[in-house]
Amino acid sequence: MSEVLDILTLQGFDDEAAALHAALADVEQRLLGDPELVEARRVLGEAEAALKAVRADQRRLEDEVERLSDKIAPEEKRLYDGSVRNPKELSSIQHELQALTAQRGRFEDQLLEVLSKLEAATNARQAAAAKVQELEANWAKQSQQLRHDALRLNDAIARADLKREAQKAKISPRSFQMYEDLRRRKGGLAVARMQGGACTGCRVSLPDAVRRKAFSPVFVVQCPNCERILAAG
Ligand SMILES: [Zn+2]
Repeated sequence: MSEVLDILTLQGFDDEAAALHAALADVEQRLLGDPELVEARRVLGEAEAALKAVRADQRRLEDEVERLSDKIAPEEKRLYDGSVRNPKELSSIQHELQALTAQRGRFEDQLLEVLSKLEAATNARQAAAAKVQELEANWAKQSQQLRHDALRLNDAIARADLKREAQKAKISPRSFQMYEDLRRRKGGLAVARMQGGACTGCRVSLPDAVRRKAFSPVFVVQCPNCERILAAG
């Protein structure tokens, strides 16, 4: 086999290895975490904070209602149990009771509003928690698959490296250096096939002398235009 074909084969192995490395980088990136799960956890955190705030409001209003009820009960008792006979004092108790009851009514109205918010906040928290749970279950499966993929790709890369080393041994150090240099400078395509008398790397027509030389198995010929190594056929 001509050296050019050996170099072309090496380029094939390098392409394969590059694809494996790109796939591994993608898997490793995805293993960093599921952005949807991160977002769902953030939403759950917010829903929990909102629910906590509504519950604090509820407790505060219930305390207010209780505090007022504790004030109202003894006043009502005094008003009706006959212990107070003075009409002026009775009227004052009545006024006081009206004020307290009105105040309690306002707190009770607020409490009703808060209780309806509590239902919505509880439902929102439940939905957010269910979403997190679902995504966590998915992630457990997905990350297991990704770890498995990473192992498989690492194995494949190790095998590709061995193949590459074996192939490299067939090529002269000078040609190998030329190939490495071209691969770096020419976007990974160091060896270009000839087609219809032109270089497929740059599409420029090749002089007959260059083509003839490229068909001979003893030479490693470069395209005069793009410098790529020319492979016949
Ligand atoms: Zn060219």
